[in-house]
Amino acid sequence: MELFSINTGHFKLDGGAMFGVVPKSIWQRLNPADENNMCSWAMRCLLVKDGNRLILIDNGMGNKQNDKFFGYYFLHGNDTLDLSLAKYGFYKDDITDVFLTHLHFDHCGGSIEYNSDRTKLKPAFKNATYWCAKKHWDWAVNPNPREKASFLSDNILPIQESGQLQFIDSSKEFMTDFNMYEANGHTESMLLPLIKYKDTTIAFMADLIPSVGHLPLPYVMGYDVRPLNTMQEKKYILHEAAKNNWTLFFEHDPINECCNVIQTEKGIRADKIFKLEEL
Ligand SMILES: [Zn+2]
Repeated sequence: MELFSINTGHFKLDGGAMFGVVPKSIWQRLNPADENNMCSWAMRCLLVKDGNRLILIDNGMGNKQNDKFFGYYFLHGNDTLDLSLAKYGFYKDDITDVFLTHLHFDHCGGSIEYNSDRTKLKPAFKNATYWCAKKHWDWAVNPNPREKASFLSDNILPIQESGQLQFIDSSKEFMTDFNMYEANGHTESMLLPLIKYKDTTIAFMADLIPSVGHLPLPYVMGYDVRPLNTMQEKKYILHEAAKNNWTLFFEHDPINECCNVIQTEKGIRADKIFKLEEL
């Protein structure tokens, strides 16, 4: 098995919303905000090559929304999904599986794109099966008012209409050496890949721990629907990671890709910070 870090670009989100109850006097040292209180975040995906399968975990926000939408989220930087795949010699048509941790727009927006004359939406990965938790799918297609702005029907419904959607269940292995942890604090049934790789387990953190700055337990995003569950889930994952020397992979950290964690007197904190390719 080979793993590749795929950055699909950076975007901006309100720093206060990203750090929840933590005051700005503290979080601004972790990720300095611009004049509108917005901080820069990555949309970093993971590509898994195993035999004939090429599995892409999440796919960023895509490019099909209108200017008004991008005006809110300030897509910036030089990375795109296509360029990051090409860096390793891959194209979108090579992808056999698209694993969706959850259906918030910054994780699944690259799933669907316009055809060449922008009249019709179609799967961006024409040869792939798209995988999503059934409970999360049902939650996203009937969104609650709080998450409604994050679940965009253009990102979601065409996946099912294409016939390429399959549901997964976290109680079973996704494939050999690839398990899942189901977290219910950020949203219903978000699936975090746990992949045995080299001498470690790569834990894809998605929105459970979006960045290194979010390691301390109370650093929970304001977006989460069940913040107390998030704290329990973080506690469990961090404990397992410290005990078994897992590698946490951060989807949203603007700079840091991976870290190991260690128990300290203040709680579990980052130990070594490194890039995936250094493993
Ligand atoms: Zn999310």
